[in-house]
Amino acid sequence: MTRYSAFSILTNALRGNRDWTPAWRKAEPKAGYDVIIVGGGGHGLATAYYLASVHGVTNVAVVEKGYLGSGNIGRNTTIVRSNYRLPANSDFYEKSMQLWRGLSHELNYNVMFSPRGVLNLAHTPGQMDTYAERGNQMRLNGIGAELLDRDQVARLNPGLDVNGSARFPVVGGLLQPEAGNARHDAVAWGYARGADKLGVDILENTEVTGFLKEGGKIVGVQTRRNGEQADIRAQKVGVAVAGSTGRVMKLAGVDRLPIESTVLQAFVSESIKPIIPTVTTFGAGHLYVSQSDKGGLVFGGNIDYYNSYASRGNLPVWEEVTSELVAMFPNFARLRLLRSWGGIMDMSMDGSPIITTGPVDGMFLNAGWCYGGFKATPASGWCFAHTIAQDKPHDLNAAFTLDRFKDGRPIDELGAGPTPWYH
Ligand SMILES: Cc1cc2nc3c(=O)[nH]c(=O)nc-3n(C[C@H](O)[C@H](O)[C@H](O)COP(=O)(O)OP(=O)(O)OC[C@H]3O[C@@H](n4cnc5c(N)ncnc54)[C@H](O)[C@@H]3O)c2cc1C
Repeated sequence: MTRYSAFSILTNALRGNRDWTPAWRKAEPKAGYDVIIVGGGGHGLATAYYLASVHGVTNVAVVEKGYLGSGNIGRNTTIVRSNYRLPANSDFYEKSMQLWRGLSHELNYNVMFSPRGVLNLAHTPGQMDTYAERGNQMRLNGIGAELLDRDQVARLNPGLDVNGSARFPVVGGLLQPEAGNARHDAVAWGYARGADKLGVDILENTEVTGFLKEGGKIVGVQTRRNGEQADIRAQKVGVAVAGSTGRVMKLAGVDRLPIESTVLQAFVSESIKPIIPTVTTFGAGHLYVSQSDKGGLVFGGNIDYYNSYASRGNLPVWEEVTSELVAMFPNFARLRLLRSWGGIMDMSMDGSPIITTGPVDGMFLNAGWCYGGFKATPASGWCFAHTIAQDKPHDLNAAFTLDRFKDGRPIDELGAGPTPWYH
């Protein structure tokens, strides 16, 4: 496989760019594997990569029903941050930040990690107090945070309306300077290429339609590929199917999980010159916006307010999200929307994820990513790989069990309770 470098670009250019090889093989399924990962999204691919690179487990297949990048990994608004308060989340997401920083070099693939800062706007003095508390907590956890007053916000983000007469006047904000964005589909492609290079089989267009069970233990998967059914055996099966978790787990006989599936939409405007230097969030509602390298504004807001497996969103959410954008940046009112799409979110009941052994013998589950699974991709894969390889969680994901819902130990970061639409 070609190693990407300035030198390889030059030599390939001189040879007419005829010698580039595909980033990953079109693998054919084997009869059995040590580990099968169901779901070739960011989390499934990262898990396969770390199983091979950290644990030496290379007899692995990633089984993906569509093409790589067709799920939420290729649909998100690309925000990467670790501005959490509760220790379990804070430690986990900061591990992810550490992995993000070295990811392009580790994978030899440019994931375009851009630590441009994430700025949360405050619109009331009470909100400033909450941000001060969160910022202090972040700093105690070793994560950079700066509380900014209104003038500092205005200097950082000159396009914002910070006038006292604005509909929601800006009082200040909390900045995580080292947070930012990465290019979402490059993350899927980079992990796929890295895993493939270490021997992992990536089986695209292969849907898991059932699980093989012997004596109550999962021993493989039933698949449909090119219209044909086939069984593939495995010693261990990890499930990382995000918004499809409920449907896939039902195939394993698990029909109740603390997860609801809901659509979340994303929006992209026409391209304009650079105007928003940071990822910026609106504090008087739910809106997050950044500007892509091509110049388009990439933004999103709340999930649609009902459960669904359909990835088409509704118009009231368009209206809500765009009106919040214009409340922050009135000069965007005449921008044209270029495109929008939806992705199916796996909303957990406390807003925190699940990375665990079980709930069936032979199986491992990775789910409950709510709005925030993209930034978690490296740490999620790293922790899930550890959990699968060692048959027990790492300290970083020890709290992310299913049992916490049964035992009344939720990791309720927002204090929103079992109300997934608030998370
Ligand atoms: C609009 C939107 C904006 C978002 N913005 C952000 C953000 O800014 N920051 C952030 O951190 N997070 C964000 N997220 C959340 C984040 O994208 C997800 O939490 C994360 O991508 C989920 O993990 P994944 O990448 O593994 O999921 P996916 O890419 O959805 O992977 C799951 C895969 O499982 C496959 N699958 C399902 N059923 C089967 C089956 N039966 N057999 C085989 N394969 C199957 C699917 O085809 C899919 O490819 C956003 C999500 C959306 C939709």
